[in-house]
Amino acid sequence: MENELVAEILLSGSPGSREDLEPLLPGLVEDAFRRTLGTRGTGRLVEWSAEGDRITLRLDSDGGRPHQALLATARRLGEELGRSRKIGVRSFRAPRYRVSFAIGATNEAKITLALPHTLTVEGPRATLELLDLSEEALRDNWIDRAIQLVQEKAKRQGYEGKEQYWALLGKTAEKSHTGRADPTEEMIRRNWIRGGPTKGKWFLGPTAAHLLRTMERIARTEVLEPLGFEEVVQPHHDSFDILLKTGHLEGLPGEFYYVAEPTTRDPKAWETFTDLVTITRKVPMDELGRLVGPPSAVSCYAQCPTIYWWLSGRTIATESLPVKVFDRTAISNRYESGGRHGLERVDEFHRIEPVYLGTPDQLLELREALRARYAHVFDDILDLEWRTAWVTPFYLQQAGGVGVEDSERRIKGTIDYEAYLPYRGDRATSEWLEFQNLSIVGEKYTKAFTIRAQKGEIWSGCSGIGLERWLSAFLAQKGLDPKDWPSGFRDRVGKLPDEVRFL
Ligand code: ATP
Ligand code: ZN
Ligand code: MG
Repeated sequence: MENELVAEILLSGSPGSREDLEPLLPGLVEDAFRRTLGTRGTGRLVEWSAEGDRITLRLDSDGGRPHQALLATARRLGEELGRSRKIGVRSFRAPRYRVSFAIGATNEAKITLALPHTLTVEGPRATLELLDLSEEALRDNWIDRAIQLVQEKAKRQGYEGKEQYWALLGKTAEKSHTGRADPTEEMIRRNWIRGGPTKGKWFLGPTAAHLLRTMERIARTEVLEPLGFEEVVQPHHDSFDILLKTGHLEGLPGEFYYVAEPTTRDPKAWETFTDLVTITRKVPMDELGRLVGPPSAVSCYAQCPTIYWWLSGRTIATESLPVKVFDRTAISNRYESGGRHGLERVDEFHRIEPVYLGTPDQLLELREALRARYAHVFDDILDLEWRTAWVTPFYLQQAGGVGVEDSERRIKGTIDYEAYLPYRGDRATSEWLEFQNLSIVGEKYTKAFTIRAQKGEIWSGCSGIGLERWLSAFLAQKGLDPKDWPSGFRDRVGKLPDEVRFL
C-alpha cells in the first residue's frame, strides 16, 4: 500500500465496546473511502479498536490519500453517535502517517524537514512517515505540502553548485571610460555621501541626492510616462499574508527587515524604560524586548507584492488592460549581510517598480516597448556600456514553473540588465553589475491573488529600476566630473547643488 494512516478519534463519551460499534464504523469508513477516492484509488480499514472515549483506526489506501476519508468518517461518526447516543467527536489526530511517492535520485541524509518524521529513499521512491499530526494538520492537508517540499528539496540537490542560467541577449559596443575608480570611494572622498547610522545604508548629501533624483526623473519621463504608466503610492510595510501568497516567506526569510509594534503606547507601561534611559543614557534592551511584540510585517522588500494585493479579488475591465502602474514611494530594505558593497549593494535602496498586467500578447508587446525605451536611456542619455541576459533560476527552468520550452521561446522569465564596472577589472573576467531587470511571470501572481480579467487569461510582470544601481553604473563608467558626462545627462542634471563645505 502507498499510504498508511494511523488515527485516533477522541469522543465526548464512551460509545460502548467494539461489538457495539461493529455495525456502524466499518460501513462509515467504506462509504468515506468511496466518496473521497472515487475511481482514483482504493482504500480499506485495516484494523481498529475502541477503548473508553477513544477509537483507534488504521486506514490504508492506494491512488489517493486516506486522511480525506478520515475527515469524512469523523464527521459522519459525530452525526450518527450524536443522534443515537448523544456523543460527539471532540478531536482527532494521527500518531503516524506513512506515504510513499516518487522522487528524483537523492541523498536522503541531506533532506531535513521541520516536522517530526522519518524519511527513507530507495531507488526512485521515497517513504515519508510523519509523526503526531494534529487535527489542523490533517484538515489543512499538510501531508501533500510536506511531500511536495521533500520532492522539491531532492530536486534542488541536483542543481546545487550549478550556475544560474544566463544567456546573453545583446550588448553595446565596448566604450572607453573616463571613470576608473570605485564611485562609492570617490563620493565618500568628496563628502557627497556618508555611511549611514545603521547597517548598509547611506546618507546622500545634496549632490548625490540630486543625481539620484535625476536618474529617477529620467526613468519617469523617458520610460514610464511615454508608455502610459501611472504612479501609485503604496504602504511601506508588507503583511505576512501578502508574502505567503507570493512565496517570498519561503524563499527569502533571512533577507527581510522585520517590523514589530509596541505592545502598548501607554506612557505608564513605558515608565521603567524611560526612567532607565534617563538615568543610564543607554537603551535598556531587556525592557524594550518586553514592550515590543513579535514582528507583524516586513519592511518593503519589493514593491510588486503590495501592488498585487491592491488588485486582489478584483476583475479588471477589458478597457483597463493592460494595467500599467509604478510605485516609487516604498523604499526597499534587504538584509544583504556579507554581500554589502558600496552604494551598489545596500540594505536600503530606492527603486521604481513598474508593474503590468494584461493578456499574454499585451505583455509581450509591452516588454518590447519597455526594452526599447530603456535602450534609449542607456544609449542616448547615459551612454553606458551595458548588456542584457536571459536569466531564470535553474530549478525554475526545469520545474513546471517556467518550463524548458519557455526557456527556449523566452516568453516567461527575467531579463537582467548589466553594466560593466571598469574599477572591477577587465570586461571578460570581472563581475558586471545588475542595475535593473524586467520580468514576465505569467499567471503566477494573478492566480495567487485571484486577479481576473473580464475576459480570458491575465498575466503579469514587473521591472526593478534600482536607482542606486543606475547611479553607480553611470559614475563607475563616467567618473564624478560633470565635464566628462554625456551632454544628454548634463542637460537633465542642470546645475549641481552647492555642497556643504566642511572644515
Ligand atoms: P542581485 O542579484 O544583485 O542581488 P536581485 O536579483 O536580488 O539583485 P531583484 O530582487 O530582482 O534583484 O531587484 C530588482 C532590482 O533592485 C535590481 O536589478 C537592482 O537594481 C535593485 N536591487 C536589488 N537589491 C539591491 C541592493 N541590495 N542594493 C541596491 N539595489 C538593489
Ligand atoms: Zn517585482
Ligand atoms: Mg539579491
